[in-house]
Amino acid sequence: MVQKSETIWFNGKQVPWDEANVHVLTHALHYGTAVFEGIRAYECADGSSEVFRLHEHMVRLVNSAKILGLVLPYTADELCEAAVETLKRNKLAGAYVRPLVFVGEGAMGVHPGQNPIETIIAAWPWGAYLGEEALEKGIKVKVSTFNRHHVNVMMTKAKASGNYVNSVLAKTEAVADGYDEAILLDTTGHVSEGSGENLFMVLNDIIYTPHTDGVLGGLTRDSIISLAGDLGYEVREEPITRDMLYTADEVFFTGTAAELTPISSIDRRQIGNGAAGPVAKLLQTEFFKIVKGENQDYEHWLYRYQV
Ligand code: PMP
Repeated sequence: MVQKSETIWFNGKQVPWDEANVHVLTHALHYGTAVFEGIRAYECADGSSEVFRLHEHMVRLVNSAKILGLVLPYTADELCEAAVETLKRNKLAGAYVRPLVFVGEGAMGVHPGQNPIETIIAAWPWGAYLGEEALEKGIKVKVSTFNRHHVNVMMTKAKASGNYVNSVLAKTEAVADGYDEAILLDTTGHVSEGSGENLFMVLNDIIYTPHTDGVLGGLTRDSIISLAGDLGYEVREEPITRDMLYTADEVFFTGTAAELTPISSIDRRQIGNGAAGPVAKLLQTEFFKIVKGENQDYEHWLYRYQV
């Protein structure tokens, strides 16, 4: 269950959590016509707080809306201010932040017509997405029987709600089969991403990740690529096959919710030593220092605020 906060920003106003409701004939509920973001705010070591890469997340939201043809009545800057206002209003020093832009109630056909475009920003406390233990010991993953979207079937650069039915299918199958998470292959059979995470593998100290062609351009992915480069690692964006994962030294997921989660096994084959490998551990440690405001070199990624 989500831990309730006091208010949710709803079309420009702070509305009590229990009153932030919509009608059952909301277009988005029927056709998935919505775009969203997942953002994290962290409490820093010095007692202040920061929202990690807030502006880039809001730019991605604006772009997702544009891809779907939704006319979003707010700029990325306005949405950043609204997110921070919501965090402060709810006295959240650390939180998960969920903006959502959706087609509201009105016409009931597929064409959204003149239906209103509604915007909310909710924030609530949320710990490690796949569990605290997962960050250290890694998770068990299966390659899904469901393929990731083809780039010309769904718009993979949009973080669109409708796209996530594919993620739900893969995640539900993985959990029902006794795994923690799924890896989806694309329609050419290459590795794409997890149900809500980007994927990296390490072989002989070189880091590999698939191109963003058919996967979401994750901001954690982008952060880890920069960080790994700064730490002296070579990072290659190239096609990865399923068997390459089986024989990799390390495989890990990145994402706002998952942060950096190592993968201990794939399809019951142990990866590396079956726990977080040295590269994943180093990147994870440095990533957590950055988000907690302990590395000045990456201060430009932090949107500081004080509750
Ligand atoms: N891929 C998918 C399908 C996702 O849902 C997410 C989470 N937003 C990611 C990758 C990782 O993106 P980010 O690092 O920006 O959270």
